[in-house]
Amino acid sequence: MAIEQKLITPAELRKQLLFGRDQIPDLEETVTVIEAINALKREKNAVVLGHWYMRDAVKLVADYLGDSLDLSRQARETTADIIVFAGVKFMAETAKILNPAKKVILPTLEAGCSLADSITGEDVRRLREAYPDAAVVTYVNTTAEVKAESDVCVTSANVKTIISKLPQRQILFIPDKYMGANLKAELPDKEIITYDGACILHETFTALDIPNIRKLMPGLRVLAHYECDPSIIAAADFHGGTNDMRKYIARETAAAKKSGEHLTFLMATECGLSSTIKNEYAQKGEDIEMVGPCNLCPYMKTVTLRNLRDSLRDEKPEILVPEHIRVKAYKALERMFELGEVRGDAK
Ligand code: SF4
Repeated sequence: MAIEQKLITPAELRKQLLFGRDQIPDLEETVTVIEAINALKREKNAVVLGHWYMRDAVKLVADYLGDSLDLSRQARETTADIIVFAGVKFMAETAKILNPAKKVILPTLEAGCSLADSITGEDVRRLREAYPDAAVVTYVNTTAEVKAESDVCVTSANVKTIISKLPQRQILFIPDKYMGANLKAELPDKEIITYDGACILHETFTALDIPNIRKLMPGLRVLAHYECDPSIIAAADFHGGTNDMRKYIARETAAAKKSGEHLTFLMATECGLSSTIKNEYAQKGEDIEMVGPCNLCPYMKTVTLRNLRDSLRDEKPEILVPEHIRVKAYKALERMFELGEVRGDAK
């Protein structure tokens, strides 16, 4: 299904900017930049695909907001001529791999990722030699070159389903060491070999003392992303990808309305997700209590409304993937879609 351009009115923009967590000191200038982006989208038949971890103001120009799996599905189906990826580079590369005929733009090349930077295609070739019987299962937070050396890609939402379906017992899971450790605990029938990559954002939650926070807050619900340390996953009430977390909060909030219980949520993930959820409830006239540190991904936050406008105006930086790499990476992604279409959620 084609994505419709979201072109909200200046009045609605002002309202939504005021709801956001971001401080907007220059409201009128921000509205002007957003209007310029909307005009460019119309003129160039462009869509903006946005990740939940973007700044609140950037999320206002996204025609589709989602997690990495949602966004790769949308990238596969859009009829737009230009895709602007309001996310990080590996996501834009995935859009290009799935959509070679379209122009894919990333607002800034500074939007990298510590996980994607942790491993190269050469590293994967070396690992394959060391573990010739293993299936190479690669988290989508990797470069096109690494995906091209893989048997199948996964997201945090479909990783367990996909690994369970693979015939190999030995699995080389790259590159997230925390997610790998969580998989080891949850899939005892498989021999999971891990790598040493980590998400610098989710790693920061390792120090959280959840048992003590619980003592202070009855009605606390702790949600942790799969990229967190196993000690955090074990202490949480729920773990999964970002869409899983949204659904969990909706379920728990609805149940609490009936029972009268007062709930407080602590989300061990990027603050952009909690702020989006809080805003969504605020706009329905409901308050949702969130506690915990507001940890931000420094890479995601390099995307701003201004560099997004400039990149769409100049149609650069364009993300390109050499065809011999793209074809191989496409196979690993297609295998993910084939094996993993059970739940629609991911980070
Ligand atoms: S949140 Fe972590 S995994 Fe996601 S882009 Fe930032 S560093 Fe990479």
